Amino acid sequence: MICKNCNETIPEGLAVCPKCGGKTGIEQQRFCKKCGAVLRANDDFCTSCGSYTEEKQADIESKKQSAISMAALGFVVPIIGFILAASQSKSNPDGAKIILGASCVGFIIEASVFIPSMLSFL
Ligand SMILES: [Zn+2]
Ligand SMILES: [Zn+2]
Repeated sequence: MICKNCNETIPEGLAVCPKCGGKTGIEQQRFCKKCGAVLRANDDFCTSCGSYTEEKQADIESKKQSAISMAALGFVVPIIGFILAASQSKSNPDGAKIILGASCVGFIIEASVFIPSMLSFL
């Protein structure tokens, strides 16, 4: 093929021209790290063995990480509520009941939202 930057004839399929170092506009070929098949530029899966591409895998991992940290945060808030309720139970029993109730509701919502979403990642 012809480099569009320097018009030199260069080998087919290169992403960077070996003569001028310019980008040829061709996507660097990616290979499946499981089976070694060539991947198409925007595919999320290997069309040969069906495993995720490295990019997709990294994307899934980062989403999983953020879901886990959100879930952890969501569980911490009601726990703080329980601790608060416990500490208020003598001096402010009515307030403690309200905090406890809200924490229970928060905990149940948290569990019902995040547990299924966590399981979907497994
Ligand atoms: Zn060139
Ligand atoms: Zn593969």
